[in-house]
Amino acid sequence: MSNPIIAKLFDENEKLKIRIKELESSAICSYCGTVHYAKPGQEKLDMVIEHMATCEKHPVANLLVEIERLKTELATCEQSALDWAKIAGRNQAQIAKLAGEIEDLKEGKRELVEAGEAIIKELSKFQNIIQYESFSKLKAAVAKHG
Ligand SMILES: [Zn+2]
Repeated sequence: MSNPIIAKLFDENEKLKIRIKELESSAICSYCGTVHYAKPGQEKLDMVIEHMATCEKHPVANLLVEIERLKTELATCEQSALDWAKIAGRNQAQIAKLAGEIEDLKEGKRELVEAGEAIIKELSKFQNIIQYESFSKLKAAVAKHG
């Protein structure tokens, strides 16, 4: 190479080829500035992913921590939902039992009203000898529950 300009350009070209190889085999973390070296391709990609997961300044590391926190919270919520489902099951059984008791009470009340009506019917035969006010009160009491 006798021409100094061409020689300089060749030299510059060689430096740029070295720089390209250097850039292809390295990665700089934008958040902490750490430089990692690996073969271009999958090895470099794996290295970048591994650094992202462990770099304290990279948002991915914080997101992984947040994901773990949310998984724990979700597990707590799922357990809580199961606990509430058990309580709801017990409450439903209690409600069904109370509904049965209410029906029994309604039936008892119906029987009492019928008995009261039967008594009034019997007593009405003696209306003329029972004080009118007492008879009216009895009729009103039975009618109120009927
Ligand atoms: Zn980093």
